Amino acid sequence: MLQSKLFTKTKKDAPSDETSKNAILLYRAGFIHKELAGVYSWLPLGLMVVNKIKEIISQEMEAIGSSEIIMSTIQNKEIWEKSGRWDDEKVDVWFKSKLKNGNEVGFGWSHEEPITEMAKSFVSSYKDLPIIVHQFQNKLRNEVRAKAGVMRCREFVMKDMYSYFKNEEELNNFYNNCIDAYMKVYRRIGLGDMTYVTSASGGVFTDKFSHEFQTVCEAGEDNIYIHKIQNLAMNEEIFNEETLNKMNLKKEDFELKKAAEVGNIFNFGTKKSEEMDMYFTDNDGIKKPVYLGSYGIGVTRLVGVIVEALSDEKGIVWPESVSPFSLHLISLAKNENGESYKKAKDVYEKLKSQHVEVLFDDRLEKSAGEKFGDSDLIGIPMRVIISEKSLAAGGVEIKERKSQEKNGEIISMDQFLHMYLKDC
Ligand code: ATP
Ligand code: MG
Repeated sequence: MLQSKLFTKTKKDAPSDETSKNAILLYRAGFIHKELAGVYSWLPLGLMVVNKIKEIISQEMEAIGSSEIIMSTIQNKEIWEKSGRWDDEKVDVWFKSKLKNGNEVGFGWSHEEPITEMAKSFVSSYKDLPIIVHQFQNKLRNEVRAKAGVMRCREFVMKDMYSYFKNEEELNNFYNNCIDAYMKVYRRIGLGDMTYVTSASGGVFTDKFSHEFQTVCEAGEDNIYIHKIQNLAMNEEIFNEETLNKMNLKKEDFELKKAAEVGNIFNFGTKKSEEMDMYFTDNDGIKKPVYLGSYGIGVTRLVGVIVEALSDEKGIVWPESVSPFSLHLISLAKNENGESYKKAKDVYEKLKSQHVEVLFDDRLEKSAGEKFGDSDLIGIPMRVIISEKSLAAGGVEIKERKSQEKNGEIISMDQFLHMYLKDC
């Protein structure tokens, strides 16, 4: 992509009511546009990041047997009444509206009930199970406060997955596979070292826990207790004598950290299927309730957490796997006729022909300082500068975004092309 053609421009300042670091940086770098508090639009660079995260999640969910679907945002009140969750007293984030004929509808803040209703229509026998589906959906939630930028929104992208099994053992098995798949996702997007499988209240089975995935992050809203030796953590709600005794752990072995919930998995057992009347006939001829699990990942919250966790004073630092581009090619030429512009353009064409994801700063009117500032703010992991100076020094200047050095390293043009092109 040519930077001169990118319609977004970097901005010096964010709106004055924007106080969170992730929103300020994403806004200034041109990744998001603010519609209203807690509601953001995703612009080309931002959408590229969202799509990369979605692709990684999709791969890992498909690897454990899930198929992708997409459910509607407008939801049927009657389906939610079956579980009692239409009630605003039970669910305090509903956005609701009315059809012209006066019938009430809801906007999806979650999809457990509608998906279960859909899955029900395909299940009568044990032979019809399991069903495992996931989707990427814009969830709408009337959150009281939207204060942490893209981390707590009134409209946000969630990956939600639902599983339907014929017995507890199969569900538990899948649940554990899902924990592994989630950790693979967090590792692949660069948050592995900071993310903990965290026990929380709310499970229905033997250990009575559900699991949250918490990424250590100052801007997070949660407090978690991390075990100093074992790789485990507990949500503050369950961090008490009773749980510690049950798990045979000592209070003093834990340390308290601020964290953001980046995922959440839930074993419902047969509770939800009993509410929703989802039964199947087993191979012994007996009618039984289906075992249900639900599994969420906050896709757009993750973008915020990555920015919070990995940025520096100059701007964003994307991990390679989710960066909008893998390379930021910068020409310092002031006109198109000189040697350095032609070389840069030629390199850009070569990279593009081999599908290297490259953003080419071809803007002739911008100063070197402005270009470097923009590049630091946007945060592409690798930068290559082609200028009269670099050519005179023997080639191109390369520098990793995360490097704290002032200058990059000069390497020959051939060496550089070898790094990125297969056949040269
Ligand atoms: P939280 O405790 O943060 O409100 P939740 O318990 O409501 O989260 P779920 O309903 O299980 O979370 O949603 C699944 C995932 O979606 C969460 O783990 C989180 O990463 C993300 N998420 C939840 N609410 C929001 C929001 N308002 N804005 C952005 N992401 C969210
Ligand atoms: Mg919530």
